[in-house]
Amino acid sequence: SASQPLLEIKGLNAGYGEIEVLHGIDLQMFEGEFVCIIGANTAGKSTILRAISRLVPHVTGTLRFAGNDLSSRASHDIPTLGIAHVPEGRHVFSDMMVEENLMLGAFTARHAKDLSSRMEGIFELFPRLRERRGQLAGTLSGGEQQMVAVGRALMLQPKLLLLDEPSHGLAPKVVEEMHDAFTKIHSRGTSILLVEQNVGLALDVATRGYVLESGRIALQGTSAELNENPAVRAAYLGI
Ligand code: ATP
Repeated sequence: SASQPLLEIKGLNAGYGEIEVLHGIDLQMFEGEFVCIIGANTAGKSTILRAISRLVPHVTGTLRFAGNDLSSRASHDIPTLGIAHVPEGRHVFSDMMVEENLMLGAFTARHAKDLSSRMEGIFELFPRLRERRGQLAGTLSGGEQQMVAVGRALMLQPKLLLLDEPSHGLAPKVVEEMHDAFTKIHSRGTSILLVEQNVGLALDVATRGYVLESGRIALQGTSAELNENPAVRAAYLGI
């Protein structure tokens, strides 16, 4: 129902082996929100996304999505629930064409009749991919590969898109294109949870954010509130 959060994380502890990385994370998202998680290197931002996708071995606490208890699900189940995860780094299948990479994203929907219109929607977002649909993904620029990675996730038509540092290492102009695309994806109705080290960029594009410090939520608020917060300005915006 409309009053239930789409994503509900409560008291989440997570880690690798003996090392706990997240300590008691509480995070909620309602349908249609665009939320960012910001914070320094190694704060544990990616681990939150990986915990949602069931890719972290040791997890305790509540993880719910659209009425489903994620803690009882395997990682391969997560996309079928409507969560698409674009991990850090540009993961494309280098020896396959752009179009083939996109089709792989629709593996859980391979019988859907509208795959070509889904692809058309992605080409509208990233016109450069249309021009290069027959090109091997390994020969694309870094920015174009990131567009393929995001496009592949969108082929699922997810309810929630998890984006891990999608702008990392890209030229400013490409970052701008990427963020325009996120705004459009959001306005088409997809909820987005974005992890960003670039706090200025994240607060520009998301409407609300969480600041993660050493595995704990240190602050949360609307992007405007965080932008004006003296601690955020001093620590992350260099002001
Ligand atoms: P970054 O931007 O550097 O990825 P982050 O905030 O996303 O930062 P995480 O990637 O979540 O941080 O990593 C948090 C901590 O967990 C780090 O200290 C990292 O070394 C550790 N860690 C991450 N993945 C693993 C793993 N597979 N095995 C062991 N430790 C890991």
